[in-house]
Amino acid sequence: MAVVELKAPLDGVILPLEQVPDPVFAQKMVGDGLSIDPLSALLIAPCAGTVTQLHRAGHAVTLTTRQGIEVMMHIGLDTVALKGEGFTPKVQEGDQVEPGAPLIAFDPDYLATHAKSLLTQVVVTNGERVAALTAASGRVHAGQDVCLTLELAEAAAESVAAGGQRVVSEAILIPNPTGLHARPAAVLANLAKRYQARVLVQRGDDQANAKSVVALMGLSIGQGDKVQLIAEGPDAAHAIAALAPELAAGLGDEGTPPAPAPATTEISEDAAPAPRARSGDPNLLLGVSASPGLAVGKVFQIRRTEIEVPEQGESPQRERRRLDDAFDVAKRQLENLQAQLKGQADPAKAAIFAAHQELLEDPDLIDIAESAIAKGKSAAFAWQRAYKTHAERLAGLSNALLAGRANDLEDVGRRVLAIITGHPVEELEIPPETILIAEDLTPSDTARLDRERVRGFCTVGGGATSHVAIIARALDIPAVAGIEPRALELPNGSPVILDGSQGRLRLDPDPAEIERIGTLRARMAVKHAADLAAAQEPAITSDGRRIEVVANIGGEADARRSVELGGEGVGLLRSEFLYLDRASAPSEDEQRQIYADIADALDGRPMIIRTLDVGGDKPLAYLPMPREENPFLGIRGIRIGLDRPEILRTQLRAILRAAAGRRLRVMFPMVATLDEIRSAKGVLAEERVKTGIDAPLEVGIMVEIPAAAVMAAQFAREVDFFSIGTNDLTQYTLAMDRGHPKLAPMADAMSPAVLRLIAQTVEGAHGEGRWVGVCGGIASDPQAVPILVGLGVDELSVSVPAIPAVKAAVRERSLAECQAIAQQALAQDTAAAVRSLVAVEL
Ligand code: PEP
Ligand code: MG
Repeated sequence: MAVVELKAPLDGVILPLEQVPDPVFAQKMVGDGLSIDPLSALLIAPCAGTVTQLHRAGHAVTLTTRQGIEVMMHIGLDTVALKGEGFTPKVQEGDQVEPGAPLIAFDPDYLATHAKSLLTQVVVTNGERVAALTAASGRVHAGQDVCLTLELAEAAAESVAAGGQRVVSEAILIPNPTGLHARPAAVLANLAKRYQARVLVQRGDDQANAKSVVALMGLSIGQGDKVQLIAEGPDAAHAIAALAPELAAGLGDEGTPPAPAPATTEISEDAAPAPRARSGDPNLLLGVSASPGLAVGKVFQIRRTEIEVPEQGESPQRERRRLDDAFDVAKRQLENLQAQLKGQADPAKAAIFAAHQELLEDPDLIDIAESAIAKGKSAAFAWQRAYKTHAERLAGLSNALLAGRANDLEDVGRRVLAIITGHPVEELEIPPETILIAEDLTPSDTARLDRERVRGFCTVGGGATSHVAIIARALDIPAVAGIEPRALELPNGSPVILDGSQGRLRLDPDPAEIERIGTLRARMAVKHAADLAAAQEPAITSDGRRIEVVANIGGEADARRSVELGGEGVGLLRSEFLYLDRASAPSEDEQRQIYADIADALDGRPMIIRTLDVGGDKPLAYLPMPREENPFLGIRGIRIGLDRPEILRTQLRAILRAAAGRRLRVMFPMVATLDEIRSAKGVLAEERVKTGIDAPLEVGIMVEIPAAAVMAAQFAREVDFFSIGTNDLTQYTLAMDRGHPKLAPMADAMSPAVLRLIAQTVEGAHGEGRWVGVCGGIASDPQAVPILVGLGVDELSVSVPAIPAVKAAVRERSLAECQAIAQQALAQDTAAAVRSLVAVEL
């Protein structure tokens, strides 16, 4: 068996890699090797080889030996941040060097005061070519003592002989809105596993095995980050040719759905969790809203007992078998759970367990556990350490979405651990009327919950992005995450009120308050039933003014549901929603078919199709766009269509073709100037001529930029109708980012400034005989309905579940009353004052 000996590249004292205070090295994510605490200041070549990589920052260099072994030497920790200061490279990429040749000189005094550590790592990054690696210990002298002895694997020689090559892709900008989070990471890992080549993703100084979901997530790659793919092996070129375009195209990841209306209590899955707050009131605990709603119930704490594991194992073969068997059982359990959840029509939760299954295939996790087993540890100990270290690492990431996935790793990790140790699955005997409190609830916990008994969740961990929040919303029960930790001390059975909308838990409520909430809930249920019973009736004020109440939809299922709930058509089809989960652009035929199907589901009712509203903060996987400094003020909405006319033309042709024999209208989003609408109409006219379709197609614009509201009279001469998008109109009027965790609650569309712009829009439109709708979130708020009606709005386009309540709100008053309220609202100083005018008596 061939052996390669590496001489010490520095004078110093050897430390095992595991002791390096950086998990990337300590967990051998980069590869196996050793660390040297340096006593000299010149890094020299430990063997002959080619310099295949010299980092821009001059702190790391990789030599590839004649046998194809890559030896990476990384001086110090976090030294990439020094941007080259303190390092003087003595070689260039491509140089051939002999043992002992100077590679990088460094300034130990500078590094000692500016870097986290001087520890220098010597790591073999293509470990699959090495059958065994022996590290020396103690004091070593540069160029004299052997520090690493490598026994080469047979395959290494073969793969080099078979033309094993190293291929590096072009730089790729990550288009995924939430970076390489679990799903795209899993897609990439699966694609990479099809190739024999070793595939790495490199970002700056960091690398990760592209076949490992955990390693990829550990890199915490964000949207717009620049990465390169590196493949090594006989099929390296094929791997790069196939993987690079997929990575650049977003790996089929979904785009970010638009943030919810500021005035609603709905929570965006992408909202950043607010910092943990503390209330001064001993009876009030604060957290963040994870799922809206109000519940009265009794505390039930879920505590998970720690599973005790023996550190030492029996023979490594036995322990390895134990781990494998436990994986098999866990995978079967997860398959059963998925089948069960799909049977209950709960695909979202089933997908969570599919992701768990993926984690069990993760080569890095398995590697870490196996290497501990090889060192004599028990399977349980090895596995527990592997998943816990990774979960802790994920939990510490700044990306809330990735940090939330630590909970998934804990969950599936514990499942396997329970199987290895024979630990019984804890049955949750949940009493009726329960408000669950836990450090964190795992998806497995929630899958076992008795829905009849649980009225709400409250967790110390997690945020609005956690799976628990997603599940609570799907179950339609209130939930609060990030609650003050003293919640864990509340005795079981204590009465509490959980306010999911405001993110609060009230302790010791007095019986009168409980009764008030009970009565309120009962009253709301009665009202809801009455609204539903009248849902198919038109929405007419008591003095005869009819308001069209139509739906905001994202697809055919919404369309069907809207008809059931009394929707009179569709005021906003967010066409981008139809394509969020696609990896490639839909063809004209596909689009035509989709529009036709949705329109047919409406059974003759009209539908407004909004052209693609993406760009800026609303990315689309198949449409990677350059990162922008100010995405809300960048290429978004109609600007994309005008910037890339082929996309707009294809969509307009599809709409024109679907319009034949159907009641379709088209609407352009984010229009700021008359030039924009004129250009868009020009494109439509050209496509009309090309297609020869003369089906009627009314044209409108979204009024969601103050300029459009102010210039409403001029715009009204160009179009058939307006639809006011109060979500964006509010953010642009108040200069408050609608998704900002601190500002969004203040970005209230009931602000008198926004209401005045609505009034101005209606005036401009009616003066030219055009009609006006409102499709922003405010239209779905029954409290706002009298004000909008009073301002003269003709149509309200609302979220599907809100249709019956909005219709009922229209019927509650006369137009004259609404007009009086609207005039008062325009005269108020603040949004709060406007809201108090229309506050509902509870
Ligand atoms: C709006 O901005 O109010 C609107 C309806 O559009 P979206 O929420 O899709 O941006
Ligand atoms: Mg908008």
